[in-house]
Amino acid sequence: MIRLTNVNKTFDKKPALNQISTEFPENKVTVIVGPSGSGKSTLLRSLNLLERPESGQYQFNHDFDIDFSKPISDKTILKLRQKTGMVFQGYNLFAHLTIIKNIMEGPVKVLHQNKNEARKNALALLDKVGLKDKANVYPSNLSGGQAQRVAIARSLAMAPEYILLDEPTSALDPELELGVLKVLLQIAKEQQSMIIVTHNMAFAQQVADKMIFLEDGQIKFDGSAHDFFTTNNQRIADFISAMT
Ligand code: ATP
Ligand code: MG
Repeated sequence: MIRLTNVNKTFDKKPALNQISTEFPENKVTVIVGPSGSGKSTLLRSLNLLERPESGQYQFNHDFDIDFSKPISDKTILKLRQKTGMVFQGYNLFAHLTIIKNIMEGPVKVLHQNKNEARKNALALLDKVGLKDKANVYPSNLSGGQAQRVAIARSLAMAPEYILLDEPTSALDPELELGVLKVLLQIAKEQQSMIIVTHNMAFAQQVADKMIFLEDGQIKFDGSAHDFFTTNNQRIADFISAMT
């Protein structure tokens, strides 16, 4: 369980996150939605310490209890990043490495897995994302949707406790988007803890256990997907219908 308490982050004196308190349950999918500039990316990046809030508490299971107003050690940052795998857009793949090598890189170099084990695991993950036949090609030979699925496999290979995705399909054409969303739905079924920022309401409704609606850096809804999509809060209903 990840728990944030009274987290604040400002950019140029403007609050991007304003007294954020919420939880991200384990083995569930939490989807973050909200208008552009509402703080979704800042919130997600704070969980990975890519952004550093000025104040508040960040509790990660019983492993970490971080006070953002105090310095955070490099060791804690490193460990927390291993526990929260951010899936960056597929174009972050290493161009000079084959797909399978891209996936094996982290497990071998960082987790010190032996190569055979890492290869076996990588192949299983490629199978999971529907790209077993692409193991030995280079990233330049993949479509955007395929590259994004490799990025997801690469993140899973590090066995993070939570997978973080910031608009995982925003760069893709609709027909490529579908393949990526299918993979995420499958991973969700396997109870991988995930936190996803998306504008795709149909996908959110399908995948989310929990919804967070942000506006002006504040949480305006925090509850079940069912309650979110059946809300009689006019502001939220308007947002949903504008997005669909
Ligand atoms: P979008 O849907 O457009 O991706 P978002 O909800 O992800 O928006 P954020 O990127 O988290 O929004 O930004 C929240 C606020 O913080 C915005 O007002 C944005 O301009 C500001 N902001 C974000 N990153 C920075 C930065 N590095 N420097 C200055 N301001 C920033
Ligand atoms: Mg964003």
